[in-house]
Amino acid sequence: MPVISIANQKGGVGKTTTAINLASALAEQDQKVLLVDLDPQGNATTSLGFNRREVFISIYEVLMEGMNAESAIFPTIQDNLFLLPANENLPGAEVQLTDRPDRAHLLKHALINIYSHYDYILIDCPPSLGILTINSLTASDGVLVPMQAEFLALEGLTQLLKTIAIVRESLNPSLEITGVLFTMYDGRTRLTREVENEVRSFFEGRTPVFQNVIPRTVRLAEAPSHGVPITLYASTSNGAEAFRNLALEVINVTEASIGEGAEGPDSSEHESIGTTGGTITDTEGAVGEVAEADPGIADQAESPPAPPFVS
Ligand code: ATP
Ligand code: MG
Repeated sequence: MPVISIANQKGGVGKTTTAINLASALAEQDQKVLLVDLDPQGNATTSLGFNRREVFISIYEVLMEGMNAESAIFPTIQDNLFLLPANENLPGAEVQLTDRPDRAHLLKHALINIYSHYDYILIDCPPSLGILTINSLTASDGVLVPMQAEFLALEGLTQLLKTIAIVRESLNPSLEITGVLFTMYDGRTRLTREVENEVRSFFEGRTPVFQNVIPRTVRLAEAPSHGVPITLYASTSNGAEAFRNLALEVINVTEASIGEGAEGPDSSEHESIGTTGGTITDTEGAVGEVAEADPGIADQAESPPAPPFVS
């Protein structure tokens, strides 16, 4: 039952679009899927046709008030696809969590009793590397990183890779990068192809990049306003096909990874990358940086707290 964070602190790169439609395409493959909306914007919740204002038991109540996760999970319009939604309380969580010594482990502990009920759990992360994203990475087996193949696309990836390295070192040693995914891909432009080639050759042998890409298509942008995934909104569209192919690739990758005993890629070896506008630098020293920003995280690494909500 792989748990996969869909994360990139850069805004608008296609995290939520990927989370919803990959979840739906996996469900179409007879996988039982839970989508967790961990973004205070609640876009995944809204895009699946839920009104955030009418959601009274959400991920917020699960994390902050110790509600049973099972009681906050809702069936969706699609068989096999379940949602643990966000509501309007979630924006307060980042601030409210600052003083909790167990703050990095809340999601992991909340999900512990339901991992085995699902074939896949996907977590839609907010566009930040705050405590909610840290919770997601701590609770996950893998991270899927959506990115746009455009100039400056790699900007910020340094920080994400550092954060992943830190979480692996201090909170979740088994965290892997499931793959980098090109989103809003327009193969007609030379820049897109150049960026793609450069990113693929840079990551070759160290960080997986999905073979499948998600095309830029208006159908994918329209589907959320109808409250359904692309596979239901425009079942034969390019976007739906792309997510079906991605789902098959994700199933292959995760099954292979389970078979190999989870030998993860080494995100601690990154060096510089040039012309696509981003710089990926060495991650050494990163633990110190985060420990400085949030000393509690480093403390937790030394003495993991007892699960707060699990008897
Ligand atoms: P945030 O960081 O705010 O959470 P995000 O990374 O989740 O954003 P999305 O909300 O998935 O990004 O996408 C941003 C916008 O781009 C949305 O309006 C979405 O409909 C649109 N979009 C995403 N993917 C595609 C695509 N492949 N083709 C066309 N439009 C897309
Ligand atoms: Mg989003």
